[in-house]
Amino acid sequence: MRPSPQLKLTMCDCGNLHLTYRSLTLHFEKTKFYHFAEQVGRMATSISTRLTLPQTTALMNPNGQNVH
Ligand SMILES: [Zn+2]
Repeated sequence: MRPSPQLKLTMCDCGNLHLTYRSLTLHFEKTKFYHFAEQVGRMATSISTRLTLPQTTALMNPNGQNVH
């Protein structure tokens, strides 16, 4: 997966993290960023599962387990 140039994570002078996405900048303490990233990762997983599963099953079995 290519990193998006629109999404950037920088360390601030205050020791916190700045997550910049397009024109939006979020300011996190490190531990809160980890928590945030974990949540976002879970959301991405649940969304991609929801979005790709019905399409994938229509084309092929996602696990390669063909039922004959
Ligand atoms: Zn700062």
